[in-house]
Amino acid sequence: AASSQATPTDERLDTGPGLGPPAPTTAYEPTATQRRFLHVRDRHCRMPGCRRRPGRCDIDHAIAHADGGPTDCWNLCCLCRRHHRIKTFARGWSFTLHPDGRLTVRTPSGVSRTTRPPGWSHDPEPDPPWLDEEAPPDPLSD
Ligand SMILES: [Zn+2]
Repeated sequence: AASSQATPTDERLDTGPGLGPPAPTTAYEPTATQRRFLHVRDRHCRMPGCRRRPGRCDIDHAIAHADGGPTDCWNLCCLCRRHHRIKTFARGWSFTLHPDGRLTVRTPSGVSRTTRPPGWSHDPEPDPPWLDEEAPPDPLSD
């Protein structure tokens, strides 16, 4: 019988929080694996203060796919339909997704706030009430 020479695999300890992001795809739609990863990472809409669940969220390309933004997790985040529309259509809003998953949102009045992906943070930040107050009403509300 072979003696047990199993070496412990501690590699995961070096890869940061949880498993690394899944491979990118060339398609516009994220893969099922990417969706699962993003839902775990983001947990809800990434607009600071918004708690809409990922099941009701869109996967947003921070840099639009049409502008060459890849369908890769560093360029994707969960946004609910309302905030996705604000990002896409409303003037004066700026959304910047960073390679480590942080998202910086700047409102039309120039206030900016950066949040970490909730699934990667043990220190959730409080909800800022001002963001929702500045958000315009959803013109396409259904
Ligand atoms: Zn939202």
